[in-house]
Amino acid sequence: MDVLKPAEASAAPTLRERDQIDDRFKWDLSKIYPDWNAWQHAYAELNRKIDEFAALRGSLAKGASALLAAFALRDEIGQLEYKVWYFASLCYDQDQRDNQANAKRQEVQILFAKAAQASAWFDPELLAIPLETVRGWMDSDSTLAIYRFAIEDLYRQQEHVLDDKGERLLSLASRFSSSPNDAYAALSTADVKHPTVVLPSGVESTLTYGQYRAILATNPNQADRAAAFHEFHKVYDATINTYSTLYNSVLQRDWFHAQARGYRSTLEAALHGNNIPTAVVENLIEQAKAGTDPLRRYHRLRKRILGLDSYHSYDTAIPLVEFDRRYPYDTVVEGLPASVEALGADYQRQMRDVLNGQVIDVYENPGKRSGAYSAPVYGSQPYMLLNYNDTLDAAFTLAHEMGHSMHTVLSHASQPFVYAGYTIFVAEVPSTLSEALFLDYMLERTSDEHERIVLLQHAIDGIVTTFYTQVMFADYELQAHRLVEAGKPVTADVLGEIYFGLLQAYHGDSLDYDEEAHITWARIPHFYSTPYYVYQYATCFASSAQLMKQLTTGSDADRREAIARYLTLLKAGGSDHPMSLLKRAGVDLSQPETVQAVVQQLDVLVTELEHTVAGAQR
Ligand SMILES: [Zn+2]
Repeated sequence: MDVLKPAEASAAPTLRERDQIDDRFKWDLSKIYPDWNAWQHAYAELNRKIDEFAALRGSLAKGASALLAAFALRDEIGQLEYKVWYFASLCYDQDQRDNQANAKRQEVQILFAKAAQASAWFDPELLAIPLETVRGWMDSDSTLAIYRFAIEDLYRQQEHVLDDKGERLLSLASRFSSSPNDAYAALSTADVKHPTVVLPSGVESTLTYGQYRAILATNPNQADRAAAFHEFHKVYDATINTYSTLYNSVLQRDWFHAQARGYRSTLEAALHGNNIPTAVVENLIEQAKAGTDPLRRYHRLRKRILGLDSYHSYDTAIPLVEFDRRYPYDTVVEGLPASVEALGADYQRQMRDVLNGQVIDVYENPGKRSGAYSAPVYGSQPYMLLNYNDTLDAAFTLAHEMGHSMHTVLSHASQPFVYAGYTIFVAEVPSTLSEALFLDYMLERTSDEHERIVLLQHAIDGIVTTFYTQVMFADYELQAHRLVEAGKPVTADVLGEIYFGLLQAYHGDSLDYDEEAHITWARIPHFYSTPYYVYQYATCFASSAQLMKQLTTGSDADRREAIARYLTLLKAGGSDHPMSLLKRAGVDLSQPETVQAVVQQLDVLVTELEHTVAGAQR
């Protein structure tokens, strides 16, 4: 098939020593502090302020000005913490062999632990003052009133705080809380024996998780992928009852804490911190499950393009076409501001400032931290770490991190320090949206059918793994927790049935099922480490899909309003609960339509992929 013909390629950037890389591709940390001397000075100042804060203990009840003084000092400490931490941490990440930077970084961690202890008195002391009294102070002092949302939210959370005796008991019990996850980590990582296998094609491979994923994502031989899948699952099968016992401990722990604090369910307990109604997760699950048609069409199309007689979960990650076109950094940097034209000229200008501001560390060098991130250095600028390697993935990673950086720029410029940060529930909205806009931009410009297929697959796989898979995981977590809440037994068989049933509910007859899929749940780290966390990737995706629709369709006036609402969301930082912030931006996650926006987005992309493939085959 013509579709499988490779496109032209140029050489990837070679690994260079850091000092051989042009300065314009390296971040300039001297914008944070000119040198370690200045950093040391700031560190000492931070240390002094932490002591000053500890000395304020017992002063809050004196009145508005005493409370304001404490908040102001807490903000000064917080601002210094950003710069002192990131200067050392970014310096360490650019070359982790740098022992001096590593030592400084650890010094900051030690100081942070001291700061936490020195401020532990603050919340209980404030909460001992009746909220009505504090409200009176805020009404009479406009500067103190800035802290209204933070203060009222603290009192809101107080609802589920126990008396001293109860809190002491819970804090003693908390030492056991991490045991199930610690044991999971030991069993699945420290003590695991990765099998070395000879694949049907004759290649020998030691099946670490990384190697296993690499085989599924790159090995064109289905028999090899199948063998890797079966062998990899044997490792979990051998101790599956231990995994189910550990997971049961996670469930029991969560239910214990929920009940002890007076929540009706584990889900309610998990969502209370961000003030998110449980209906949001239930709606997410219900609508995703009802919207699996384009997901199944995609898998059936894959099966056909890949020319497979049977199509299994180990066939879902392999690329549809061979493709290694290069996307040089300078080209992408030029295109990125153009891709966000829909967000207005100001937004584009601010993005160019970030791109040209010497705050992006572009290329890999020996010792550099892997992956990519955007670091919100308050009081300076957002810094970005990349390991840019000219691939399409790298280009989209840049678009993604740029979404985070722009969120930081706008939030830091518009909010007082106390609300400058934003929660994960909102954070992945601008990054996902930034990727979606970049995809549109790329699709509009390409005339190459291979590139179009690769772009479409990239976008579709993003929806499959960030939306459908995460909702399925959330569904699994919810069902498992509900077993415990209903006093029902939790065994490896029961968990296997839930997981297998979900795979079938989402994929129907578009997938051929393997027995081992009954134990896949055992290896998902999030289930043990951070229950009820992954659904946020899916809600962010849904929010972003809904915003994308509003930003790119409708009348000019509608679009202008949508832009204004979206920029208000970015500028709002953490100044309100995430659901309220998103609602003001035009996204209501409790409504079916919001989740359906992703299903529609996938539907459009799969249809376009079907057409492109049909065109390429002609
Ligand atoms: Zn992100």
